[in-house]
Amino acid sequence: RDGPRPGPGAGETETGRGRRYTGDKLTGDRLMAKVLLVEDNHMNSRLTEFVLERDGFTVVTSPNAEEAIEAARRDKPDLILMDIQLPGMDGLKATRILKQDERTTDVPIVAITAHAMGGDEERIMAAGCEGYISKPVNTWQLAETVKKYIRS
Ligand code: MN
Repeated sequence: RDGPRPGPGAGETETGRGRRYTGDKLTGDRLMAKVLLVEDNHMNSRLTEFVLERDGFTVVTSPNAEEAIEAARRDKPDLILMDIQLPGMDGLKATRILKQDERTTDVPIVAITAHAMGGDEERIMAAGCEGYISKPVNTWQLAETVKKYIRS
């Protein structure tokens, strides 16, 4: 108990009265966690990308599931935000493929859904997603939501 204390961690500074939390631990520790954003609507994609970058994340975007699977294997994101309705392969099929691939199975996937109605949540979770958010994306809560799923 009286031994030397470890130095302040990321996001902390030592002050005369002790340690003060001055920043975000996650982005501090991980030096900008990387999010792969899969969204076919260009304006939605730009807005979500802007919000995530504002809040300290590195963002890789993909407009369809096929490219997203390639990007996930190549870029090793810390989390994937996956629109469900995509041209061609849909987001749930892409999620199943990513979860069955040992290279990407550990990457948390959060679905973005236009209407989380009865049965949708079950389909989303059955596909392997860790969670989901509803459209329109709440830009004030997005960073907290992303951090929650990266931590877990
Ligand atoms: Mn879409």
